[in-house]
Amino acid sequence: MESLIGLVNKIQRACTVLGDHGGEGMSLWEALPSVAVVGGQSSGKSSVLESVVGRDFLPRGSGIVTRRPLVLQLHKVEGGSEYAEFLHAPRKRFSDFAAVRQEISDETDRVTGKSKQISNHPIQLSIYSPNVVNLTLIDLPGLTKVAVEGQPETIVQDIEHMVRSYVEKPNCIILAISPANQDIATSDAIKLAREVDPSGERTFGVLTKLDLMDKGTSAIDVLEGRSYRLQHPWVGIVNRSQADINKNVDMIAARRKEQEYFESSPEYGHLAHKMGSEYLAKLLSEHLEIVIRQRIPSIIALINKTIDELNAELDRIGRPIGTDGGAQLYTILDMCRAFDRVFREHLDGGRAGGHKIYGVFDHQLPAALKKLPLDRHLSPSNVKRVVTEADGYQPHLIAPEQGYRRLIDGSLGYFKGPAEACVDAVHIVLKELVRKSLIETQELKRFPTLQSDIAAASNEALEKFRDESRKTVIRLVDQESSYLTVEFFRKLQNEPDKTQEKNPDKNPNPQAPNAERYTEVHFRRIGSNVSGYINMVCETLRSSIPKAVVHCQVREARRSLLNHFYAQIGRKEKEQLGKMLDEDPSLMEKRETLAKRLELYKSARDDIDAVAWK
Ligand code: GDP
Ligand code: MG
Repeated sequence: MESLIGLVNKIQRACTVLGDHGGEGMSLWEALPSVAVVGGQSSGKSSVLESVVGRDFLPRGSGIVTRRPLVLQLHKVEGGSEYAEFLHAPRKRFSDFAAVRQEISDETDRVTGKSKQISNHPIQLSIYSPNVVNLTLIDLPGLTKVAVEGQPETIVQDIEHMVRSYVEKPNCIILAISPANQDIATSDAIKLAREVDPSGERTFGVLTKLDLMDKGTSAIDVLEGRSYRLQHPWVGIVNRSQADINKNVDMIAARRKEQEYFESSPEYGHLAHKMGSEYLAKLLSEHLEIVIRQRIPSIIALINKTIDELNAELDRIGRPIGTDGGAQLYTILDMCRAFDRVFREHLDGGRAGGHKIYGVFDHQLPAALKKLPLDRHLSPSNVKRVVTEADGYQPHLIAPEQGYRRLIDGSLGYFKGPAEACVDAVHIVLKELVRKSLIETQELKRFPTLQSDIAAASNEALEKFRDESRKTVIRLVDQESSYLTVEFFRKLQNEPDKTQEKNPDKNPNPQAPNAERYTEVHFRRIGSNVSGYINMVCETLRSSIPKAVVHCQVREARRSLLNHFYAQIGRKEKEQLGKMLDEDPSLMEKRETLAKRLELYKSARDDIDAVAWK
């Protein structure tokens, strides 16, 4: 039995550590039973708790002393000395219970201020002692009827609301404290308990101050359940009076005195074995065990549900990665491959973006070629200038060989611009695809450092491919200058002179070619010949430049974008690899919290599993 309740204490404690005060939604906290003390102000709630515990430690006095819920966990330990521990000050052991009382009151003030305000936030206190049974008890502020000086008007409802929030939970066992020197019909405790637990199956009626009853009156009708019937038997209690407290009557003596009171009482003597604080503690403990046993299946179901949720969340944000070099390298390569896959999908199709490269070849390049200032370069006046310059002091005799070469070289020079622009345009498209792919690679999201490392490596590789591509397309153009297509000019010689036919007026003497050698018609014909040749070359380049660009940039990017990067990480030390896998600190923190929660729930499940079959 004690293992069972000890277990409950453990789980409840875990829940409180996790910030799980039974706020919103169904929580583990709510699935577990607890015992709350309810009653009017000064009805003896704190005194009952103290005598169940067997220790003086709760702040007492007149007026509103208990202003925050106190969650009190009793842990029975075998032998050793007694001590208390607060959740808000872990590892600080209190063996002086007067100091515990002081700490409760200080901690109350810390949250509520020194006013008579109240707070819903519980103080959690554990007591380890050989003299207690395992129990979780909750001390609550007393129900009042009017707001006293210094309290807000709403205090009466505020307290009732807070108390209700604890006792209305179906797993809360209610210790309804009523003073025997008041009519039971006026008991605030019974009134509230009846509201939240109409069947009375989780309400224990406790009658205090039996010793303070008027002479000649008796509580026997209440104690035997005739005045107000409850599912469970009433328990009568005699706590220490204020005078006893002032005289520092200790708890052991008080219990002995209480027992003597019942044993020697003419009215209650026959009930002595079912009265008093010790009996109340035993009764509660037995009841808790029954309730917990009933709840084990639903508690396990709740824990399993939470474990599933935590696992799903951990999967979503990514599991922790191994800390050894091999695991790190594996993770990095895995991420790189995932990124590479996305990047290829962009190029090959499946994801948008690759078509933009074709756009460069199909629109941008032809448009740029069309805009070249060839007409100006091959205008009769410029042709004349170039040819004359090439001739030097000796004008050409038949055909201006040098002039043709210069005009062709000059024209070809214009092609370098569009060729390089094509390379650059494709470079920009590829860079954009890298950027998109990095964003779209889900796995990489958690590793911003690795993400930027891959970005840098990819861009560096793309730049290298671009440089190679530039060299190649310039070479294509240069090749055209190095060796001209002779056939083109041979064919020209055999063709009739179209220029002449078109401009008969300007050539009054078609029969005299030598005479027209230095006329505008002559230079116009040269220009037109060169233009014909350049058009032919332009056609060739329009298809060979894209081929070179794809070969040097697109194909390489697809094939070996991260090759250099792979070689680099292969040489890296474990420490450097770890740095690359640096995650967003908030994400790491979140994962750690989740993992911790998961562990707690798992160990709670193991514990419960272990006792469920006992
Ligand atoms: P709470 O406000 O409900 O927590 O009540 P306390 O436990 O602080 O008790 C209020 C006052 O009533 C204190 O002075 C106690 O000594 C006194 N008191 C409580 N129970 C008894 C009892 O059974 N007999 C006597 N004589 N005094 C009691
Ligand atoms: Mg109190």
